[in-house]
Parts: sequence; structure tokens; C-alpha cells
Amino acid sequence: MIGDILLADVIPPDARHNAASLRDSDNAMSSPNIAVIGGGIAGCSAAWFLRQALGEGAALTVYERDAQLGGRLATLDVGGTPVESGGTIIHETNRYLAGFVDHLGLERVEPHQREGDGSESVGVWDGRRFAFRTHDSALLTRLAAVWRFGVMAPLRLQRAVVRGVKQWNQVYEHLERGAAFDSPSALCSELGLADLLQKDGRQWLADSGVRGRFVDQYATPVGRIMYGQDVSMNALGTSIALAGAGLAGTLFSVGGGNRRVCEGLVRDAGATLQTGTEVAGVSKAGARFTVQLSDGRLASHDVVVLATPAGPAALALSGVEPPDSALRARPFQITWATFVKGTPRADYFGLASAGDLPDAVLTVEDDTIPFSSFGLVATAPDGAHVYKLFSREPVAESLLDELFSSRDVVEQIRWEAYPVLRPSSDLPPFRLADGFYWVNAMEFAVSTMETEAVAARNVANLVAAQLAS
Ligand SMILES: Cc1cc2nc3c(=O)[nH]c(=O)nc-3n(C[C@H](O)[C@H](O)[C@H](O)COP(=O)(O)OP(=O)(O)OC[C@H]3O[C@@H](n4cnc5c(N)ncnc54)[C@H](O)[C@@H]3O)c2cc1C
Repeated sequence: MIGDILLADVIPPDARHNAASLRDSDNAMSSPNIAVIGGGIAGCSAAWFLRQALGEGAALTVYERDAQLGGRLATLDVGGTPVESGGTIIHETNRYLAGFVDHLGLERVEPHQREGDGSESVGVWDGRRFAFRTHDSALLTRLAAVWRFGVMAPLRLQRAVVRGVKQWNQVYEHLERGAAFDSPSALCSELGLADLLQKDGRQWLADSGVRGRFVDQYATPVGRIMYGQDVSMNALGTSIALAGAGLAGTLFSVGGGNRRVCEGLVRDAGATLQTGTEVAGVSKAGARFTVQLSDGRLASHDVVVLATPAGPAALALSGVEPPDSALRARPFQITWATFVKGTPRADYFGLASAGDLPDAVLTVEDDTIPFSSFGLVATAPDGAHVYKLFSREPVAESLLDELFSSRDVVEQIRWEAYPVLRPSSDLPPFRLADGFYWVNAMEFAVSTMETEAVAARNVANLVAAQLAS
């Protein structure tokens, strides 16, 4: 794992989340009818947390535009080998995701299904050579890291990341005692993380005593593989990307695909599921909402929880006026995920044989490098290998010719993957209007499965507080 470059993990695995710990209040409105728009992890975990918070009396409907749940959690079949094509890595301290997986009886598996012991070799490619690479021996890797980056920079970085993870993890205590925040900014302020939204990753690293080569050849490559962005993204995104690289704990995915969590949550919540159903608009008259579906049907609800990245700006609205900050267009980072079942050309990387290639190739920020990352993600039962490239632009055939001596299958997906995480104090709110909430406001602070689940729990708390008042 990428974090093995550094020191041993120092965060103990968190106690498992007790999935049934939520329901503790008598609600003023005993049978609210709630619409959840969007069936990704944000919407599905919102439905689940709402059921926990409001009990059996609540009627929950999840509207999902696609034929299936999952959104940016998706499994792709690459010539008979299933791979995660979107969100892949869950961190062991991701209390809600880990709790869901256990509660739903799903299996934790290595994020990448390769042959071998699960350990991952990593190289940082600078366009001409590997500026750094790991070794089979952890000791040799650490010595090489010290040689390249010095003793203090890795230590300081790890300390800063671990500190950030510990601060972030306080969110669970707040939410589990019913706290509810109107905005991601308010949530981050409560955790002492507000400054990480306002400064960029490079500044945060400098403030932590980490500069120079270690930033350009470690922190930036990690940012590029995780968010397609360098350390000019906000410091919260930078620190969470580094934590997600295994710098502070171990990583896993869900057997059979991460999207199974979404399916399990909606089923467990007993929500009515309407897939293939796009919501076109939301209007409010008095205290009631009308959800307008693209096929012309209308549905009446007491509360609307929006769980889509495009948010209220993509809907026809009447009778509700979300604040400008929720309607402003905010750019998303495009990530092309290209999957190739084939044989790589080691000579592209100046190596003698494919066996010398690191499992994961990270890259420095350099416009001449046509991809953000390149790596082996699965080994098929017949021994064939599946590779994944992340890039900001579509991968041209000519690049595939350079990178692969043969290829049986090529699949390419364009993701509007995550917001461009600019440092900002002007983030959209969770509360759009009375009874109207937006889980994905969280994404403009940082975008992961877990932070979306945290936002979903926060919105469930906001709804519970509103209905109890
Ligand atoms: C390539 C890639 C790699 C990633 N890697 C990781 C990772 O390793 N770890 C990690 O934690 N995160 C990762 N992420 C981020 C993570 O996947 C997202 O943060 C998370 O999945 C977002 O979930 P969501 O429910 O908020 O949004 P989405 O998954 O986008 O769900 C929104 C849903 O709403 C539906 N919808 C939209 N509009 C409407 C409408 N009008 N009516 C009805 N339905 C609608 C959509 O069809 C979609 O299903 C990655 C993302 C990408 C793209």
C-alpha cells in the first residue's frame, strides 16, 4: 500500500459502529412521508439513517434516475473480470461504511483482486524514470524513503495526517448524540478543521513542516490518483487523500462490489425504491412538497432530501428559494477511468520486463505525462491481468499502443468524479429551506463514500430535529 512508504500505522482500528444505535427520540410527526432523490451512497445511507432516526412510521421513497443503485459506486465487467470502476477504497476508520458492511453481512476484501499476498508495490513516475519506488522488503522501502525524502518529512506528514483523522473522527460522537450542522463549514468548524477548507494542501503541508521533494513526489502523486488534483486542492481533500493512501490505517472494498452497500441499505431501511425514475422538479405549497418526475407524475411529501451532486440547480424549483451558494455552478473534476485487459509494455517505463512494473504507478504533476495513475487492479482466474488508468483527458489509442503490447478488452468511463476542491469558505449548506435538505453539499468540502455517509447522518439529524420541533 502507498502508505507503507512511511511508518507503521498508528491508529488502532476503531470499534465497530453499532448500526442500531440511532433511534432515541419521540417524533412530533409520527408518520412523515420523505422523498430521497438519488440512489448513490449519499441517498441510500440517508434513507437508512432516516429509518433509524424516525422509526417504522416514516414512509421513505428513494428516487433513482438509473436502472440500478450505486451512482459513482459501480462494478464493471472487463472481459469476465469484475472491477470497481468508481469509488473503490474504504478506510478501516470509516466508521459508517465499515458499520454498514458488517451490519449488512457483506464481506471486506482487498481493494484490488491481484495474485499474491495483497501487498502493493508502488512507483512514482516523473515522465522519465521512477523518482521513487518501494521494495519487497519494508525495511528497504523505508531506507529508500529516508534516502530520498529525509527522516523528518515523512514523520511530520504522518503526524499531520493522523492528527487530521483523529479530529475528523470526533464527528461520530457529535452526530451520535444528535448534533446537526446546517453546513459542511459549520461541521468542519466544530471539529477544528475549518482552516483546512480555506487553505490549500501545499500550505497545510508547509505549515506541518513538509516541503519540497516530498510534496512533489509523494503528496502530489497521491492527490492525483485520489482526486485527479494536485496539492492546490483544499487541505481537507489533501489530508483525506493521504489518509486514503494507507498513511493512517488499512483499506478495503466490498466483496461483490461496493454498490452492494447501497442496495443493502435501501432494503434494510424498508424504503420504497423507484429506479429508472428521474426527478425533474420540486415545488412547495404550504408545508407540503410536490416532487415532479420526468415522466410527468407527481408525488407529495413532507420532507425532501436531495442526494445528487448537481443539487438544487439541476431541478425546476417553485415555492422554495435555496441560498445562492447552493445554486452556484461549481466545477467537477473529470476523471477518465480506462480499464485494459492485456499485457503492458515495461519498456514504456524503461524497465526490462512486465514483472518489474510496480503494481501502482503514481505520477508527479507534469503536463507531459498523459495519465494520473496506472496500475494492476485484478488478476483473472486464467492469470490475465486487468490494468486501470486514471487520466484527465480520454486515453488515445496511440497511448494504449505505447503502454500495452497486447490488449484483449478496453473499457473507458468518463466520470464527473468529484468537485474541484478549491480552498474556500463559501460552501453550500445542507439546509436548503425548511424541509428541504442537500446531502451532497458535503462534497464541496471533500468527496468520499464515508464523508457522504456522514453528511447523510447529519441530514437525518436535521430532519429528526425539524420533525420533533
Ligand atoms: C473514479 C472515482 C474514484 C473514486 N474513488 C473513491 C475511493 O476510492 N474511495 C472513496 O471513498 N470515494 C471515492 N470516490 C468518490 C465517491 O465515489 C463519491 O464520493 C460517492 O460515491 C458519491 O456518492 P453520492 O451518493 O453522493 O453521489 P452519486 O454516487 O453520484 O449518486 C447520485 C445518484 O443520484 C442519481 N440522480 C442524479 N440526478 C437525479 C435526479 N434528478 N433524479 C433521480 N436520481 C438522480 C444518480 O443517477 C446517482 O445514482 C471516487 C469517485 C470516482 C468517480
